[in-house]
Amino acid sequence: MAAQQTVDNKYVYDFAEGNKDLKDLLGGKGANLAEMTNLGLPVPPGFTITTEACKAYLATGREPDGLAEQIEAHLESLERGMARKLGDPEDPLLVSVRSGAKFSMPGMMETVLNVGLNDRSVVGLAAQAGGNERFAWDSYRRLIQMFGKTVCEVPGEEFEHAIDEAKRAKDTHNDLDLDADDLRGLVDTYKKIFAKHTGREFPQEPREQLDLAIRAVFESWNAERAVVYRRQERIPADLGTAVNVVAMVFGNLGPDSGTGVAFTRDPASGAQGIYGDYLANAQGEDVVAGIRNTVPLQELERIDKTSYDELLGYMARLEGHYKDLCDIEFTIERGKLWMLQTRVGKRTAAAAFVIAGQLVDEGLIDLDEALHRVNGAQLAQLMFPRFRLDHEFEPVARGIGASPGAAVGKVVFSSDRAVELAAEGEPVILVRRETNPDDLNGMIASRGILTSRGGKTSHAAVVARGMGKTCVSGADELDVNVPAKKFTVAGQTVNEGDVVSIDGTTGNVYLSEVPVMPSEVVQYFEGNLDPERTDDQLVRAVHRIMTHADGTRRLLVRTNADTGPDAARARRFGAEGIGLCRTEHMFLGDRRELVERLILAGTDREREDSLAALLPLQRADFIEIFRAMDGLPVTVRLIDPPLHEFLPPLEQLAVNVAVAQERGEDVAKEQALLAAVRRMHEENPMLGLRGVRLGLVIPGLFAMQVRAITEAAVEVVRAGGSACPEIMVPLVGAVQELETVRAEAEKIIAEVVGDSGVEVLIGTMIEVPRAALTAGQIAEAAQFFSFGTNDLTQMAWGFSRDDVEGAFFWRYLELGIFGISPFESIDRDGVGRLVRIAAEEGRAARPGLKLGVCGEHGGDPDSVHFFHEVGLDYVSCSPFRVPVARLEAGRAAVVTSGSDSR
Ligand code: ADP
Ligand code: MG
Ligand code: MG
Repeated sequence: MAAQQTVDNKYVYDFAEGNKDLKDLLGGKGANLAEMTNLGLPVPPGFTITTEACKAYLATGREPDGLAEQIEAHLESLERGMARKLGDPEDPLLVSVRSGAKFSMPGMMETVLNVGLNDRSVVGLAAQAGGNERFAWDSYRRLIQMFGKTVCEVPGEEFEHAIDEAKRAKDTHNDLDLDADDLRGLVDTYKKIFAKHTGREFPQEPREQLDLAIRAVFESWNAERAVVYRRQERIPADLGTAVNVVAMVFGNLGPDSGTGVAFTRDPASGAQGIYGDYLANAQGEDVVAGIRNTVPLQELERIDKTSYDELLGYMARLEGHYKDLCDIEFTIERGKLWMLQTRVGKRTAAAAFVIAGQLVDEGLIDLDEALHRVNGAQLAQLMFPRFRLDHEFEPVARGIGASPGAAVGKVVFSSDRAVELAAEGEPVILVRRETNPDDLNGMIASRGILTSRGGKTSHAAVVARGMGKTCVSGADELDVNVPAKKFTVAGQTVNEGDVVSIDGTTGNVYLSEVPVMPSEVVQYFEGNLDPERTDDQLVRAVHRIMTHADGTRRLLVRTNADTGPDAARARRFGAEGIGLCRTEHMFLGDRRELVERLILAGTDREREDSLAALLPLQRADFIEIFRAMDGLPVTVRLIDPPLHEFLPPLEQLAVNVAVAQERGEDVAKEQALLAAVRRMHEENPMLGLRGVRLGLVIPGLFAMQVRAITEAAVEVVRAGGSACPEIMVPLVGAVQELETVRAEAEKIIAEVVGDSGVEVLIGTMIEVPRAALTAGQIAEAAQFFSFGTNDLTQMAWGFSRDDVEGAFFWRYLELGIFGISPFESIDRDGVGRLVRIAAEEGRAARPGLKLGVCGEHGGDPDSVHFFHEVGLDYVSCSPFRVPVARLEAGRAAVVTSGSDSR
């Protein structure tokens, strides 16, 4: 029975027993340590306690049965292999205890080094190190510090303060100037700090140190910072962390020892070469802690050529093995190289493309795999303009890159002032401690938003992303004083009107006007950079991967465009048609007059006259668009918004009437308008007289549009071009609505088309939940469906986008009710279910029914994968998102066994 249990619940794996594919069980660090061990690289021996043990501990609040025995057994075998015992007074084995979840996560417990040292073994360690007392006491003080801070929550500053004091006493800034006596003294001070905060002495029993450290790693899975991070990054809360126990090797044994980090390629640019940092006579922590200046890794060649060459050999091997950029931690102990960690390294968006391209060239991966090494979010990042950063521009602060882009403008502190200055044509940056719904107009008027508080899900961040505005949030070095209209940072004061530059990708803030340069990737998409000729590695890689995505994807990609120039640009970006041409802008500008006449028309005759006047204008609009798309399908949506949106606002009209009356002017027309606005006022315009309802109520309105579209197509075709119009009826909820519109439209089309050969499709948007649920009926009358996922989301959730994003989304994100705004990425469970039902039932009723999506989700990476799964024919998105959708549609169509870019 007992033996049975050990087999079922194997909680501890020797490094030799694991491999890189066991990340779920062994965590990333443990799986990769095992992999390196099995590759024969010099990894100090050790073992990994599984995530299963962690989960069991967290579920019950105690170590699961069998864990203690298994740890004991693995520790014994480690001791045998090393021919030393943990914490032995004469010749101690020391270990590190390292957390390591499947995904690396800030906020998790870090590492405790030198476990096993105590008042007696510190003496043994010194003796074993050839009488190097300094080394032994330095190691001991580091144990108390790391153990105190991470296991017992002793405030880290107290230890740092004490070491600073010790250095000050010796009048030095360099920790190497502290000798054995200084460090022995420091150990005493550290122990007092430890006792003061924990109410107990620093534990002397090595095994107790080990057990407490392991338990602390388990518990750190639920530390607040880790929980918040997981929620934001959508990492499941139930993965647990593994714990690695590794025999210590020492980089602090003298000048022939040291520690460093290495990258097999440049994680910033992707360039090939040797990148990394090295620090002589130090333990691992010191490199990251930045207490001494590191030297570039290349220097190691001069310091210790044997180890350097050996390291380079391992780097090449690891890269060939993982087939990707690896980052590595290593330590040299008296000329002997030890590998302490490796993983597939993080990289910038540009490096991701460049490296994927290089790896294909080197024959390490194929193009399918390359597609999975990049993603749409990275491509989108590369399409923003960037700051031209020469050495002259140093950021003064760094916040959170909450919404990407590079924005330059004059600082303002209030929404009103932002609106004022913007109206004068000034670019402005709205600076606030944090924003609230009252700032909305100011945010719209600004080029960018900068706040000193709040993270990626703060009000400012959520709203800015929704608007596509650059935003840096949580730049907490800024002291913002709104009433005084100024902020201070790094000793400098910035007043209203001063120019700042903010980088919404990096979070950097500059107190000057940093020049902005266009994205070379956009230049390429625009056709201004020949990918075959350029020596720009990034452009070549993007071209190659995009070409492969286009060759692989099943989804077509269309664009949302309302004008000829927009349509033309989208085509250059690869759009294969227009999925949504809104017609409302065609009723604005100097055409308002005609629309007013239409609304005020007292007789059929007046109404017909104003429609007749609109007809040639609309026809000209469509001709321009059909020409730009040259035979690609163009979906035109009949007018959608409530007509009163085309009239001046009520308050403004009321004032105009009053003023004009005062002056004794003729106000008949204004009064009529005012009456119309009052009459047409709606409590809930979103749910009011709009879309198909408007077409059924105002005679001749849809008919005029149908005629304009068909005439335009006929004219283009007669002139030798081609045109494929698709007429789309918005806001349909019942098949009868569509049938009525269609009957009238078909008559007009038949009459206009004549023998021109033009074919006009009639279809509908699916954006009202009832339409999705009765899709089988609606498909009888529709030649295509286009999912309007913005409205579908609003109506499925019952909230209006304009009202809720600023009002409470931040709270919902904080609570984890949403992982991401349902307007950014489709809510698969709810809204997505409606899409699925409509797609299935629509196609069942009318096989081959053409299905597309024209909401903003059409350009969202995750949503594109969903639409691929559901089997839509195309997605349609704004021109700039077209390349992102092409890439993601390609990724969705390719299944690889390899790693996915997260
Ligand atoms: P992190 O994930 O924060 O890098 P690590 O567990 O990798 O934490 O450890 C922190 C530092 O301590 C690293 O520089 C690592 O190389 C070093 N380190 C960890 N274990 C050992 C060991 N057994 N011997 C020597 N150095 C170690
Ligand atoms: Mg590490
Ligand atoms: Mg809509």
